[in-house]
Amino acid sequence: MNILAIESSCDETSAAVLANGRLKSNIIATQLIHEQYGGVVPELASRAHQQHILPVVERALADANIAKTDLSAIAFTRGPGLLGSLLVGTSFAKAMALGLSIPLIEVNHMQAHVLAHFIDDQHDDRSRPKPGFPFLCLTVSGGHTQLVRINSPLEMVVIGQTQDDAVGEAFDKSAKLLGLPYPGGPLIDKYAKEGNPLAYKFPMGEMPGLDFSFSGIKTAILYFLRDNIKANPAFTAENLADICASIQHTLVQMLLNKLKRAARETGIRDIAIAGGVSANSGLRSALTKLGDEQGWTVFIPRFEYCTDNAAMIAMAAQFKYEQSDFTAQTVSPLPRMSF
Ligand code: ATP
Ligand code: MG
Ligand code: FE
Repeated sequence: MNILAIESSCDETSAAVLANGRLKSNIIATQLIHEQYGGVVPELASRAHQQHILPVVERALADANIAKTDLSAIAFTRGPGLLGSLLVGTSFAKAMALGLSIPLIEVNHMQAHVLAHFIDDQHDDRSRPKPGFPFLCLTVSGGHTQLVRINSPLEMVVIGQTQDDAVGEAFDKSAKLLGLPYPGGPLIDKYAKEGNPLAYKFPMGEMPGLDFSFSGIKTAILYFLRDNIKANPAFTAENLADICASIQHTLVQMLLNKLKRAARETGIRDIAIAGGVSANSGLRSALTKLGDEQGWTVFIPRFEYCTDNAAMIAMAAQFKYEQSDFTAQTVSPLPRMSF
């Protein structure tokens, strides 16, 4: 059983092939055009998807050594994401499934981030340990911050989420305030490694229950920089590592406080993270440490399956294929798709 999956929800055009449950290829074309604008420009993103999609799909098939005619299904990201970007992947997948007379499978991008934990790639000589059901996943990305209870591969419930900015946005906007290029999350991570996480204190805010809020800390950082730069124009440059380490430490603590609460309230002890921000080295090490303290079994995705990729879309599609959960040709993208 061979699945070709396509991901085009934001600014990564990606295609992957999963053959008999094992990942054979995962090609990602990242759109560099957005850097000069300091964020993703939707119209430019959809045009870049149009340019990339055919070569990316061809390369994924070639790397997997699988002919189009050997495919069993075509999967695609239906949402959430940018409408123009989703349209490219959706239309391409529909046309390909129609042309090959094989099933079409729609995938929810946020569910796929979670299901990235089930990917076995060619480098695995044996199956990696997988979370058992139910497990909790903290999904942290550019557009979302969610606490999810996963009852089975396709049955997930959001038990907490951000009421304003996503944590990835908080990373990227903080980086922008520091004059770092987009996307700044990975750069904060990089500079934080050399800094003191306790050098500066930022307010963590108070959100009831399992929800998050990241807009307050963004404003606090804005005022903090403004006041310090007034006193010393070179403040940011002279203290970049300490500032990055302190911002990262605060954001990670905010995430882990809620994760701890969710684990306590649900009694679940298999704990995972997913999404672009799960690539953050501070979050990965702090979660590992917390997991040891709490007696959790912690699951951290391989680095390459944290940010957007089609491998996770293929993985989600495989679970749907097993249940013959197919999609009609009349499908259209859902920019605000929920689950
Ligand atoms: P969504 O999945 O919510 O639709 P998205 O697809 O744009 O949003 P992802 O690709 O999953 O998001 O993640 C991108 C985000 O991850 C960006 O905000 C980026 O800054 C952040 N990110 C990536 N690597 C790191 C890192 N090492 N440290 C902190 N943030 C990171
Ligand atoms: Mg991206
Ligand atoms: Fe994503």
